[in-house]
Amino acid sequence: MPKLDGKNVLITGASSGIGQAIAIRFAQEGANVAINYRSGAEQAQVTRKIVEESYASMGKPGRKAIVVQADVAYEEQVKAMFQKVLEAFGSLEVLVNNAGIQKPQASHEIEMADFDRVVSVDLRGPFICAREAIRHFLSCGAGGVILNNSSVHEIIPKPKYVSYSISKGGMENMTRTLALEYAGRGIRVNAVGPGAVVTPINRAWIDNPKAKAEVESHIPMGRAAWPEEIASVFAFLASDEASYITGQTIYACGGLTLYPEFRVAWASGE
Ligand code: NAD
Repeated sequence: MPKLDGKNVLITGASSGIGQAIAIRFAQEGANVAINYRSGAEQAQVTRKIVEESYASMGKPGRKAIVVQADVAYEEQVKAMFQKVLEAFGSLEVLVNNAGIQKPQASHEIEMADFDRVVSVDLRGPFICAREAIRHFLSCGAGGVILNNSSVHEIIPKPKYVSYSISKGGMENMTRTLALEYAGRGIRVNAVGPGAVVTPINRAWIDNPKAKAEVESHIPMGRAAWPEEIASVFAFLASDEASYITGQTIYACGGLTLYPEFRVAWASGE
Protein backbone atom coordinates (compact mmCIF):
# COMPACT_ATOMS: atom_id res chain seq x y z
CA MET A 1 0.00 0.00 0.00
CA PRO A 2 1.63 3.30 -1.03
CA LYS A 3 2.31 5.56 1.92
CA LEU A 4 0.39 8.62 0.66
CA ASP A 5 -2.38 6.92 -1.29
CA GLY A 6 -5.09 9.42 -2.22
CA LYS A 7 -3.67 12.26 -0.11
CA ASN A 8 -3.86 15.75 -1.60
CA VAL A 9 -0.57 17.60 -1.35
CA LEU A 10 0.59 21.13 -2.19
CA ILE A 11 4.34 21.62 -2.73
CA THR A 12 5.69 25.14 -3.13
CA GLY A 13 8.57 25.74 -5.52
CA ALA A 14 8.10 22.32 -7.09
CA SER A 15 9.30 23.22 -10.58
CA SER A 16 12.92 22.28 -9.84
CA GLY A 17 15.40 20.76 -7.42
CA ILE A 18 14.20 19.25 -4.16
CA GLY A 19 10.59 20.42 -4.72
CA GLN A 20 10.44 18.59 -8.03
CA ALA A 21 11.88 15.43 -6.42
CA ILE A 22 9.27 15.66 -3.63
CA ALA A 23 6.45 16.00 -6.18
CA ILE A 24 7.67 12.92 -8.05
CA ARG A 25 8.24 10.85 -4.90
CA PHE A 26 4.84 11.81 -3.44
CA ALA A 27 3.17 10.86 -6.73
CA GLN A 28 4.97 7.49 -6.59
CA GLU A 29 3.48 7.08 -3.10
CA GLY A 30 -0.01 7.62 -4.54
CA ALA A 31 -0.65 11.31 -3.73
CA ASN A 32 -2.40 13.90 -5.86
CA VAL A 33 0.10 16.73 -6.19
CA ALA A 34 -0.29 20.48 -6.70
CA ILE A 35 2.93 21.84 -8.17
CA ASN A 36 3.48 25.48 -7.25
CA TYR A 37 5.94 27.66 -9.17
CA ARG A 38 6.71 31.36 -9.23
CA SER A 39 8.20 31.76 -12.72
CA GLY A 40 9.13 29.32 -15.47
CA ALA A 41 5.82 27.67 -16.30
CA GLU A 42 7.51 25.27 -18.76
CA GLN A 43 9.67 23.80 -16.00
CA ALA A 44 6.59 23.31 -13.80
CA GLN A 45 4.91 21.50 -16.71
CA VAL A 46 7.96 19.22 -16.96
CA THR A 47 7.41 18.24 -13.29
CA ARG A 48 3.73 17.63 -14.01
CA LYS A 49 4.57 15.44 -17.02
CA ILE A 50 6.96 13.29 -14.95
CA VAL A 51 4.33 13.01 -12.19
CA GLU A 52 1.66 11.95 -14.68
CA GLU A 53 4.02 9.36 -16.16
CA SER A 54 4.48 7.97 -12.63
CA TYR A 55 0.70 7.66 -12.21
CA ALA A 56 0.42 5.89 -15.57
CA SER A 57 3.25 3.46 -14.84
CA MET A 58 1.70 2.65 -11.44
CA GLY A 59 -1.73 2.05 -12.98
CA LYS A 60 -3.27 5.01 -11.11
CA PRO A 61 -5.15 6.87 -13.87
CA GLY A 62 -7.49 8.52 -11.35
CA ARG A 63 -4.64 10.48 -9.77
CA LYS A 64 -4.39 14.19 -10.50
CA ALA A 65 -1.52 16.66 -10.82
CA ILE A 66 -2.09 20.39 -11.18
CA VAL A 67 0.25 23.32 -11.71
CA VAL A 68 -0.45 26.52 -9.81
CA GLN A 69 1.43 29.80 -10.11
CA ALA A 70 2.03 32.01 -7.06
CA ASP A 71 4.79 33.96 -5.40
CA VAL A 72 4.69 32.70 -1.82
CA ALA A 73 5.85 36.08 -0.50
CA TYR A 74 2.48 37.65 -1.37
CA GLU A 75 -0.51 36.90 0.82
CA GLU A 76 -3.13 37.44 -1.90
CA GLN A 77 -1.30 35.14 -4.31
CA VAL A 78 -1.05 32.44 -1.62
CA LYS A 79 -4.78 32.73 -0.86
CA ALA A 80 -5.61 32.44 -4.57
CA MET A 81 -3.30 29.41 -4.82
CA PHE A 82 -5.08 27.63 -1.96
CA GLN A 83 -8.44 28.41 -3.54
CA LYS A 84 -7.32 26.84 -6.84
CA VAL A 85 -5.90 23.76 -5.10
CA LEU A 86 -9.06 23.24 -3.07
CA GLU A 87 -11.25 23.69 -6.16
CA ALA A 88 -9.20 21.05 -7.96
CA PHE A 89 -8.78 18.53 -5.11
CA GLY A 90 -11.69 19.27 -2.75
CA SER A 91 -9.41 19.09 0.28
CA LEU A 92 -5.76 19.28 1.28
CA GLU A 93 -3.99 16.92 3.66
CA VAL A 94 -0.34 17.90 3.30
CA LEU A 95 1.47 21.22 2.70
CA VAL A 96 5.17 21.21 1.84
CA ASN A 97 6.83 24.61 2.26
CA ASN A 98 9.76 24.06 -0.06
CA ALA A 99 10.24 27.30 -2.03
CA GLY A 100 13.37 29.16 -1.05
CA ILE A 101 16.02 31.55 -2.33
CA GLN A 102 19.37 32.85 -1.13
CA LYS A 103 21.42 35.92 -1.95
CA PRO A 104 25.04 35.88 -0.83
CA GLN A 105 26.38 39.26 0.27
CA ALA A 106 28.70 40.50 3.00
CA SER A 107 26.37 41.50 5.81
CA HIS A 108 27.60 45.11 5.95
CA GLU A 109 26.88 45.55 2.23
CA ILE A 110 23.34 44.17 2.17
CA GLU A 111 20.63 46.33 0.64
CA MET A 112 17.52 46.08 2.79
CA ALA A 113 15.38 45.28 -0.26
CA ASP A 114 17.50 42.14 -0.85
CA PHE A 115 17.32 41.20 2.83
CA ASP A 116 13.53 41.69 2.89
CA ARG A 117 13.04 39.62 -0.26
CA VAL A 118 14.92 36.60 1.10
CA VAL A 119 13.11 36.71 4.45
CA SER A 120 9.78 37.19 2.66
CA VAL A 121 10.25 34.11 0.47
CA ASP A 122 12.05 31.88 2.98
CA LEU A 123 10.18 32.63 6.22
CA ARG A 124 7.18 34.91 5.80
CA GLY A 125 5.93 32.96 2.76
CA PRO A 126 6.06 29.58 4.54
CA PHE A 127 4.13 31.11 7.42
CA ILE A 128 1.41 32.49 5.11
CA CYS A 129 1.11 29.07 3.47
CA ALA A 130 1.08 27.32 6.86
CA ARG A 131 -1.63 29.66 8.12
CA GLU A 132 -3.82 28.96 5.08
CA ALA A 133 -3.27 25.22 5.47
CA ILE A 134 -4.11 25.32 9.19
CA ARG A 135 -7.31 27.30 8.50
CA HIS A 136 -8.32 24.60 6.04
CA PHE A 137 -7.31 21.70 8.33
CA LEU A 138 -9.31 23.22 11.20
CA SER A 139 -12.36 23.83 9.01
CA CYS A 140 -12.32 20.15 7.91
CA GLY A 141 -11.61 18.90 11.43
CA ALA A 142 -9.51 16.07 9.99
CA GLY A 143 -6.06 17.37 10.91
CA GLY A 144 -3.20 17.58 8.45
CA VAL A 145 0.53 17.74 7.95
CA ILE A 146 2.83 20.71 7.35
CA LEU A 147 6.44 20.09 6.32
CA ASN A 148 9.06 22.81 6.02
CA ASN A 149 12.17 22.56 3.90
CA SER A 150 14.69 24.12 6.23
CA SER A 151 18.48 23.64 6.12
CA VAL A 152 21.47 22.78 8.23
CA HIS A 153 21.71 26.57 8.43
CA GLU A 154 18.77 26.39 10.79
CA ILE A 155 21.52 25.76 13.39
CA ILE A 156 24.84 26.32 11.58
CA PRO A 157 25.67 30.00 11.02
CA LYS A 158 26.43 30.91 7.40
CA PRO A 159 28.51 34.05 6.92
CA LYS A 160 27.45 36.16 3.89
CA TYR A 161 24.05 34.48 3.97
CA VAL A 162 22.58 36.20 7.01
CA SER A 163 19.07 36.64 5.54
CA TYR A 164 18.98 32.94 4.62
CA SER A 165 20.34 31.82 8.03
CA ILE A 166 17.89 34.06 9.88
CA SER A 167 15.02 32.65 7.82
CA LYS A 168 15.96 29.03 8.40
CA GLY A 169 16.60 29.69 12.10
CA GLY A 170 13.16 31.29 12.30
CA MET A 171 11.74 28.30 10.48
CA GLU A 172 12.84 26.06 13.33
CA ASN A 173 10.85 28.08 15.84
CA MET A 174 7.91 28.35 13.45
CA THR A 175 7.92 24.54 13.12
CA ARG A 176 8.08 24.02 16.88
CA THR A 177 5.58 26.75 17.75
CA LEU A 178 2.92 25.65 15.25
CA ALA A 179 3.50 22.01 16.22
CA LEU A 180 2.83 22.80 19.87
CA GLU A 181 -0.11 25.10 19.15
CA TYR A 182 -1.98 22.58 16.99
CA ALA A 183 -0.78 19.19 18.33
CA GLY A 184 -4.10 18.65 20.09
CA ARG A 185 -6.04 19.22 16.88
CA GLY A 186 -4.45 16.54 14.71
CA ILE A 187 -1.99 18.79 12.89
CA ARG A 188 1.64 17.67 12.73
CA VAL A 189 4.34 20.17 11.79
CA ASN A 190 7.90 19.06 11.04
CA ALA A 191 10.92 20.16 9.04
CA VAL A 192 13.71 18.58 7.04
CA GLY A 193 17.18 20.12 7.24
CA PRO A 194 19.20 19.22 4.13
CA GLY A 195 22.93 19.79 3.90
CA ALA A 196 24.42 20.34 0.43
CA VAL A 197 22.17 19.01 -2.32
CA VAL A 198 22.81 18.90 -6.07
CA THR A 199 20.16 21.41 -7.24
CA PRO A 200 20.04 24.68 -9.20
CA ILE A 201 20.24 26.77 -6.00
CA ASN A 202 23.88 25.55 -5.85
CA ARG A 203 24.67 26.41 -9.46
CA ALA A 204 27.83 28.17 -8.16
CA TRP A 205 29.51 24.79 -7.57
CA ILE A 206 27.53 21.78 -8.84
CA ASP A 207 28.92 21.93 -12.40
CA ASN A 208 32.44 22.91 -11.38
CA PRO A 209 34.36 19.75 -10.36
CA LYS A 210 37.00 21.69 -8.38
CA ALA A 211 34.43 23.74 -6.45
CA LYS A 212 32.27 20.63 -5.90
CA ALA A 213 35.25 18.70 -4.50
CA GLU A 214 35.99 21.61 -2.16
CA VAL A 215 32.36 21.62 -0.89
CA GLU A 216 32.34 17.85 -0.51
CA SER A 217 35.63 17.84 1.42
CA HIS A 218 33.73 19.46 4.31
CA ILE A 219 30.98 16.82 4.38
CA PRO A 220 31.69 13.81 6.63
CA MET A 221 30.02 11.42 4.15
CA GLY A 222 32.21 12.90 1.43
CA ARG A 223 29.50 13.83 -1.05
CA ALA A 224 26.55 16.12 -1.65
CA ALA A 225 23.03 14.62 -1.59
CA TRP A 226 20.78 13.90 -4.53
CA PRO A 227 17.34 15.59 -4.30
CA GLU A 228 15.72 12.14 -4.10
CA GLU A 229 17.55 11.47 -0.82
CA ILE A 230 15.84 14.50 0.69
CA ALA A 231 12.44 13.74 -0.88
CA SER A 232 12.38 10.34 0.84
CA VAL A 233 12.55 12.02 4.26
CA PHE A 234 9.61 14.23 3.31
CA ALA A 235 7.67 11.16 2.18
CA PHE A 236 8.23 9.50 5.55
CA LEU A 237 7.27 12.60 7.56
CA ALA A 238 4.13 13.15 5.45
CA SER A 239 2.98 9.58 5.97
CA ASP A 240 1.17 7.93 8.85
CA GLU A 241 4.43 6.13 9.61
CA ALA A 242 5.46 9.41 11.26
CA SER A 243 2.12 9.71 13.06
CA TYR A 244 3.71 10.43 16.47
CA ILE A 245 6.37 12.90 15.28
CA THR A 246 5.75 16.63 15.54
CA GLY A 247 7.85 19.77 16.06
CA GLN A 248 11.07 18.14 14.84
CA THR A 249 13.70 18.94 12.26
CA ILE A 250 15.22 15.82 10.71
CA TYR A 251 18.66 16.62 9.33
CA ALA A 252 19.55 14.84 6.08
CA CYS A 253 23.02 16.28 5.77
CA GLY A 254 25.66 13.56 5.48
CA GLY A 255 26.93 14.44 8.94
CA LEU A 256 27.34 18.21 8.45
CA THR A 257 25.67 18.96 11.76
CA LEU A 258 28.19 16.75 13.63
CA TYR A 259 30.97 19.38 13.94
CA PRO A 260 33.07 17.90 11.08
CA GLU A 261 36.22 19.68 12.28
CA PHE A 262 36.25 17.20 15.18
CA ARG A 263 36.81 14.24 12.83
CA VAL A 264 40.41 14.46 13.98
CA ALA A 265 41.25 14.93 17.64
CA TRP A 266 42.75 18.40 17.21
CA ALA A 267 41.94 19.56 20.73
CA SER A 268 42.92 16.48 22.75
CA GLY A 269 46.61 17.21 23.07
CA GLU A 270 47.54 13.82 21.57
P1 NAD B 1 15.92 25.37 -6.43
O1 NAD B 1 16.41 26.72 -6.74
O2 NAD B 1 16.03 24.31 -7.46
O3 NAD B 1 14.42 25.38 -5.93
C1 NAD B 1 13.81 26.48 -5.34
C2 NAD B 1 12.40 26.52 -5.86
O4 NAD B 1 11.68 27.58 -5.21
C3 NAD B 1 12.35 26.81 -7.36
O5 NAD B 1 11.40 25.97 -7.95
C4 NAD B 1 11.91 28.27 -7.41
O6 NAD B 1 11.22 28.58 -8.60
C5 NAD B 1 10.99 28.33 -6.20
N1 NAD B 1 10.77 29.68 -5.72
C6 NAD B 1 11.70 30.64 -5.49
N2 NAD B 1 11.09 31.75 -5.07
C7 NAD B 1 9.76 31.50 -5.01
C8 NAD B 1 8.63 32.25 -4.65
N3 NAD B 1 8.75 33.51 -4.26
N4 NAD B 1 7.41 31.67 -4.71
C9 NAD B 1 7.28 30.38 -5.13
N5 NAD B 1 8.33 29.62 -5.50
C10 NAD B 1 9.55 30.17 -5.43
O7 NAD B 1 16.72 24.93 -5.12
P2 NAD B 1 16.50 23.75 -4.08
O8 NAD B 1 17.82 23.40 -3.58
O9 NAD B 1 15.63 22.69 -4.63
O10 NAD B 1 15.75 24.52 -2.89
C11 NAD B 1 14.53 24.07 -2.33
C12 NAD B 1 14.55 24.34 -0.84
O11 NAD B 1 15.58 23.52 -0.25
C13 NAD B 1 14.85 25.77 -0.43
O12 NAD B 1 14.00 26.19 0.61
C14 NAD B 1 16.27 25.69 0.08
O13 NAD B 1 16.56 26.66 1.05
C15 NAD B 1 16.29 24.30 0.67
N6 NAD B 1 17.63 23.76 0.83
C16 NAD B 1 18.40 23.47 -0.26
C17 NAD B 1 19.69 22.97 -0.06
C18 NAD B 1 20.59 22.63 -1.19
O14 NAD B 1 21.80 22.40 -0.97
N7 NAD B 1 20.12 22.58 -2.43
C19 NAD B 1 20.17 22.77 1.24
C20 NAD B 1 19.35 23.08 2.31
C21 NAD B 1 18.09 23.57 2.09
